[in-house]
Amino acid sequence: MAVRPHGVSDHFPWRDKMRDDDDVLRYLDDAARLGLRVGIEYDLGVAPPLRPSTRAALHYTIGAVHQVHLDGVRVGFDEAGAFLKGQRGSLPFAEATRFADAALQRRILESTLALVRQGIEEVGIDIVGHPTFSPLAALGDPEESFPVEWQRRLIEMCVDARVAIEVNESYRVPHQAFLVRARERGALFSVGTDAHGEIGPLDRTEAMIRDAALPEERFLRGERPRQAGRSTARSS
Ligand SMILES: [Zn+2]
Repeated sequence: MAVRPHGVSDHFPWRDKMRDDDDVLRYLDDAARLGLRVGIEYDLGVAPPLRPSTRAALHYTIGAVHQVHLDGVRVGFDEAGAFLKGQRGSLPFAEATRFADAALQRRILESTLALVRQGIEEVGIDIVGHPTFSPLAALGDPEESFPVEWQRRLIEMCVDARVAIEVNESYRVPHQAFLVRARERGALFSVGTDAHGEIGPLDRTEAMIRDAALPEERFLRGERPRQAGRSTARSS
């Protein structure tokens, strides 16, 4: 079996545990001691900036969107997340009517792109976590909810910056057509469990990788594609 470098990527920020640089560095030391590669899942648009030295000390940074702010009002993705993760059983997506609004969809899509761009340019993220996770993903056919032109802009941004696209087990995103477009455009990929606990089998991820024919050599190997060769070791 091929060697598969694993890392742990806790959320930043996270309540009273991951609030600032000091918390992140302490977590980094704790997790590195277990022999893991250590990253964070940086909550784009919400997380406070980290010092460049903290960012460099981490092995990688995932940037992910969990909400957008429209006219100063938070539009949360929580209910969509619970639905996509199967936590609502056989119930339909509770916010389907609200998010069926085309103008609202457009604004969520544009805000998402802006947050990812900010993550790439200002935060220096290495991976976009669950790239198409949003209430739009819970509406049904993702090829209808996510205009192809929008998909291409997101993929383009990642390819140009050599930022990897995460194949996410929990939310089962991105969908196959997106992954195929990304592969054809030369994108890099990574695997994210989003486990929030015990890690189960990655059957769905394996199926997504197989169905989109994503080549193994396009997946990150636990190092930053943008800063290959640069030492990220931190003396302790
Ligand atoms: Zn996330």
